[in-house]
Formats: sequence, C-alpha cells, structure tokens
Amino acid sequence: MSDNVLSDGYGYSLKPAFFASVSGLSELKKALDKTKNLGFRYRVFGSLHNVILADSKSDLAVLKLQGGIFSRINIQKDILEVGSGVTVRELLKFCIKNSLSGFEFLAGMPSTVGGAVVGNAGSFGKEISGHLIRVDCLDKESNLLTLDKSSIVFKYRGSDLKNFIVIRSYFIVKRGDKNRIKKNMRECFIKRILSQDMLHSSCGCFFKNGTGYKAGALIDSSGLKGRTRGSAAISDKHANFLVNSDNSCADDILSLKDIIQRKIWRQHRIWLDPEVEIVW
Ligand SMILES: Cc1cc2nc3c(=O)[nH]c(=O)nc-3n(C[C@H](O)[C@H](O)[C@H](O)COP(=O)(O)OP(=O)(O)OC[C@H]3O[C@@H](n4cnc5c(N)ncnc54)[C@H](O)[C@@H]3O)c2cc1C
Repeated sequence: MSDNVLSDGYGYSLKPAFFASVSGLSELKKALDKTKNLGFRYRVFGSLHNVILADSKSDLAVLKLQGGIFSRINIQKDILEVGSGVTVRELLKFCIKNSLSGFEFLAGMPSTVGGAVVGNAGSFGKEISGHLIRVDCLDKESNLLTLDKSSIVFKYRGSDLKNFIVIRSYFIVKRGDKNRIKKNMRECFIKRILSQDMLHSSCGCFFKNGTGYKAGALIDSSGLKGRTRGSAAISDKHANFLVNSDNSCADDILSLKDIIQRKIWRQHRIWLDPEVEIVW
C-alpha cells in the first residue's frame, strides 16, 4: 500500500487520503477493514474514464484492483472469466489470440472490464451486459457473492453493481474467424475515430441519451458546440464531448455542464443527466 495520485480521463488529479493497490481477495478485505477503521469513505475505480475528480483534496480512500486475480483472464469451453482490473484493450487482444467474437464493439473504449460491467458500457447498439452470465463480488460486509445476471439490474449506462465491489465477470463467448474479428474491431475503432473527439482528454459522452433524444444532437442544435470555459470546451467534433484542451480544471467542465443543462432545459424542458460521475 502506498500514497498515490489518481488522474481521471480529463487529466484532473486527486490525492486520496488513503490509497491501496490490491492484487488478491485477502489484501482487498484487509484494505477495506483499514479504511473502515480509519473512518474514510472508500471507492473502487477502474481506469477513471467515466468519472470527473471534482475536488483535489479529499477524505476519500481509493482501492485499486490491480495484478494477481484482478488481471486474470481465462477461457474454459465457451465461458470467459475476466478479472475486474483487465483493460478492454487486454481483453480484445485475448479475444483476437483465441478467436473469440462478441466484444468488437468495445474497440477503442478506454476502460477496465470491472468499470465497463458496473457502468454497462456500450456502443453501436450493444452493451457489455449482453454477454454477461455472472459476476463474483464483495458486498458491503465484505462477503464474497456470486450474482447471476438475472439478479442484477442493468440499465442504460448503469447497474446496481455499484453497491458491490466486482472481482471478476464471466461471459459467454463464441468462437469466430480471427481475421473477421480483427476486421470488425478495426471497423468499430474507425467509426469511433470518425465520430468522437479522440484528440483531447475527456470522459467520452458527458450526458446520457434519453427516450426520443440524443444528448449530442440537442446540444448541437442549441448552438453551444465550441463554447469554452477556461481551456475546457464543448467539442467542435461531438457536442456531447466536454474536453480539456489544455490545462483546464474540473470547475471549468462543471460550468460547461451547468450552461448546457440550463440551456437545454430552457429550450426543450429536458434536464440532461450526466453519464460521467462527479466525484467529490
Ligand atoms: C474517448 C472516450 C470514448 C468513450 N466511449 C464510450 C462508449 O462508447 N461507451 C461507453 O459506455 N463509455 C464510453 N466512454 C466512457 C468510459 O470509457 C466507460 O464508461 C468505461 O467503461 C469506464 O471504465 P473505467 O474502468 O474507466 O471505470 P471508472 O471510470 O474507473 O469507474 C466508473 C464507475 O464504476 C465503478 N467501478 C469501477 N470498477 C469497479 C469495480 N471493480 N467494482 C465496483 N465498482 C467499480 C467506479 O466506482 C465508478 O463509479 C468513453 C470514454 C472516452 C474517454
């Protein structure tokens, strides 16, 4: 265990009051006991690409699942077992090597598998929960549980797994043709580059889409595209991307968020709900 400075997708940082990088279950449970004894709030993050660290001074304890069981990835027949600390990039490499299809839509998404499952990450009409069959996780009392998919509530960009610490996830996979899998991944990646702002630091789409509307299209039609606050901006390329184009701070992004929410409310009576989680 050591002190550490965390950095989110925007590049904003946080020095937690307590940081532990753990690679096994008993280490994780010890770290949880310690945070409880010290009276800290604690959080488990993945690669921090769906959170904005809004406050650089914090009484937060952060536990990172890294190495050991959390980096394990294993296939048995058609069941793929993936530790929460495995990155999407590592997962896709494994899929190519073993000719496994189904995860191509994740190509280019910065994420850990734990973060993607908890947030039900998705793109191009697919969601990671589509292939999930169960997860192993710790509950608030540090009991190890196995939850079948049918007992987990998944929704658009979210799940009730937020109340647990996800240790590993199990997916059903199909064998496919290696070259086709690679080609599909490349196509998804290219679609992403063409439509998203990959040049600047961001957490991807800032607001959730809703029934009958796309947040990006609403922001675009409101004329806010390109609006800046400090060196934070509403991306010229994709209006739902709030980006840090230089050395902005979290407050700049949060002001843009407020400007957007108020304007869209005035114009459409829709209050946009952030997809990116604000961590205080
Ligand atoms: C350029 C770009 C493009 C993107 N495109 C997409 C996209 O197409 N689709 C999409 O859905 N997202 C997209 N995102 C957002 C982001 O990549 C995803 O939401 C990603 O799945 C977040 O994973 P993470 O590991 O960074 O999670 P984090 O941001 O670290 O965590 C997200 C949440 O999950 C919780 N969490 C993480 N791990 C665990 C765990 N093991 N147990 C319990 N809770 C946990 C955290 O506490 C937090 O509440 C994009 C981001 C960028 C920068």
